Amino acid sequence: MQFPQWPRQAANHFRQRFDVHSLQFQLTIGIAAMSVVGISSVTLGIAWKLDYLIISSHKKQVEQLAKRFSESVEIYSEMMSVDEAIERAIAYLATEENSIWVVRPDGTIARSPSLARGGQERLLLVADRQATPIPKVFRIRESYWAICAGDLQVDAHTVGTINIARNITVDRQMFRKLLWTLSSVSAIAIGVITIAIAFYIKKSLQPLQKFSQLTASFSAEQLGKEQLYLDSAPSELHQLENAFNQMLERFHESWEHQREFVSDVSHELRTPLTIVSGYLQSTLRRGSNLTDPQKEALTIASSEADRTVQLLEDLLELARADSGHLHFRKEPVFLNDFASEVVEMAKQYNPDRAIEFENSPELIEVCADFNRLKQVLLNLIDNAVKYSPSDRPVTVTVSRDKDRGIIQVRDRGPGIPLAQQTRIFERFYRPDEARSRTTGGTGLGLSIVKTLVEGMGGMVSLRSKQGEGSIFMVNLRLIDSNLKKVQQIK
Ligand code: ADP
Repeated sequence: MQFPQWPRQAANHFRQRFDVHSLQFQLTIGIAAMSVVGISSVTLGIAWKLDYLIISSHKKQVEQLAKRFSESVEIYSEMMSVDEAIERAIAYLATEENSIWVVRPDGTIARSPSLARGGQERLLLVADRQATPIPKVFRIRESYWAICAGDLQVDAHTVGTINIARNITVDRQMFRKLLWTLSSVSAIAIGVITIAIAFYIKKSLQPLQKFSQLTASFSAEQLGKEQLYLDSAPSELHQLENAFNQMLERFHESWEHQREFVSDVSHELRTPLTIVSGYLQSTLRRGSNLTDPQKEALTIASSEADRTVQLLEDLLELARADSGHLHFRKEPVFLNDFASEVVEMAKQYNPDRAIEFENSPELIEVCADFNRLKQVLLNLIDNAVKYSPSDRPVTVTVSRDKDRGIIQVRDRGPGIPLAQQTRIFERFYRPDEARSRTTGGTGLGLSIVKTLVEGMGGMVSLRSKQGEGSIFMVNLRLIDSNLKKVQQIK
């Protein structure tokens, strides 16, 4: 059996369009439900009261008519026979609306003209079976009647049963119309109120959305420099804003303590470790009587000491950058000559590796700190060499894209999975810890590259495909004179 798809599709569409867990949705639904309950109760209350008033006024009139009829029969019977008195009273008090009939003890009936015309047998039957001295409302076919019945007495003798029936159909129909109008107006009012409330809540929650957008866009670099500021927000949000800013302040302080601690520890450890490394290396050089296991142990100790000194230097560099004490000596740098020089230097460090250089035909001049940029490029080439097979070349390319000068370092290694590409520039992030350890790095190289490039006003990015290799791109803004040349060439 196939179930129709549309209810599920409609539910999915609704879920996509409205966030049912949002405060806005829940407040709107809650207030709308309350207004439905409130307005419906008022409407029902009014309708019930109105109905009660109309019916009780009819019942009262029926009761009074019965009383007047008894009194009239009593008066007329002093001047004429009881039967004639009854006929007279009926003729005097009966109208189109009020039907009166008296059932005599012998079963004969004296009735008002409206009943005499016939067609009211059912009314007579209902009155005979169900009517009481206290008036009640009966529905007989399509009409409504207020009916009462009781003994008719003259001089303390029962001379028959009097029945009074008042036709209240017109009033009932009017009441129904009124009820319908009242319900329609209430439904429209509920709809209008719900829409108005939804807009009002949306508007009231806008500062909250702005608050979350601002907090989401708050970066670590802004800590201690900027604060969150919301204008024209409700006072509750200002309290939240203050609490958030105080929390940021505490974060900033603890971040500062941590940075100072890292900086002090790195500084204190660097000098003794450099001395240890120096002693180990000189012992290795001069120790002609060392056994092979001793030499191996000393070599491992020396390389670990070097790695730790490198780690401490990287940490110091990052701590300086974090505290804003990393200074750049910016000057015009021709990327063509610069990259060629650094590639030559890298070839000397890695004589067994093929490091290719692809130059740009046009001169590309950017504004950068020569030594820091050298550090960046050497780091990227070093990584490319470390993380790709030794028989594959590493290629350094210089090019231009619009107003940016670009240096690319490409390797043909295993590449970096997409999920890790966004985190690769984080401190100490190493996707493959086991493999990275054997290469002797610290996990800080790429975060230093990023810090230095951004410090020079540039950007570093990565394009990598698993199995094909990675391309790290550093792009820096061309300096103005270079830009002018580019515009002239165009
Ligand atoms: P380190 O090289 O000291 O481990 P980096 O910050 O330079 O630290 O690099 C972080 C991690 O990124 C490395 O451990 C390595 O797993 C990965 N990585 C860096 N460069 C490449 C590359 N060219 N190819 C593949 N993986 C790389």
